[in-house]
Parts: sequence; structure tokens; C-alpha cells
Amino acid sequence: MKSELEKRIFEIVKERSKEGGVIQSELWSILGVDNREGSKAVLSLVRKGLIRREQVVYKGRKTYRLIYSPEVREKLSLKVNLNPVMEIPCFTCRELYRCGLGYYNPYKCNLLSRYISLNAESGGS
Ligand code: SF4
Repeated sequence: MKSELEKRIFEIVKERSKEGGVIQSELWSILGVDNREGSKAVLSLVRKGLIRREQVVYKGRKTYRLIYSPEVREKLSLKVNLNPVMEIPCFTCRELYRCGLGYYNPYKCNLLSRYISLNAESGGS
């Protein structure tokens, strides 16, 4: 997330997820920001898929209910969790195409063994 305001909005929306989200106009009061500044940050979060908004009528006025999007968060964390895979030494190894066919052997490779033991210790993350 880019700005501090976006982070604060995201945390509040996430906290209120059990209540079905938060009314946008209430959010401005909580944060002490004006509609223009707050809307810009909310739209940025919506574009990133971190929250979604639904139009509602609240106290007789049209506004939005901001809702946490855990399904998008899961997709994002999946993307992040793929990064350690790219650190496997075989992906950048010059011997990849002849590994296991003679001199180079994955069962005895120091680079691969070190990678596996480091990731086993850290739980793979
Ligand atoms: S096991 Fe070792 S030698 Fe074989 S491709 Fe991976 S890093 Fe290279």
C-alpha cells in the first residue's frame, strides 16, 4: 500500500469485516479526513482489489459500504509465497540440463542441500 492513509483505511475496513464493512462517510469521521482525500485513498485500495465497495443509502443519503476482500488477499499472498520457489538454485544453475546424468547429482548437490536445509529451518517462508 502506498500511503499511510490507505493503510489506516484498510485496517479499519478489515477490522469491521464481521460487521459487514464500514460506511464510507463514517470512515471520514473516524479518520478526520475530508471526502476528497479519503475517496482518493479508497479508490486506490479498490483498484488494488484489497477492498470493494457497494453503493448503499445511509441516513437518507447515497454513500458506499467498504468491504474487506479476503479472497483477493489470499491471491496476493499466493503470489508472495511463490517467490521462494524462484530461489531454488537449480533455476539458475548452468548444470541443470545435465544434472542427474553423470557428474552432477541432485542427491549430492551442496547448493540444493543448503537451500533445502535453510528452507526447512525457516518453514519455507
Ligand atoms: S541439483 Fe545442484 S547441480 Fe543439479 S541443477 Fe540443481 S543446483 Fe545444479
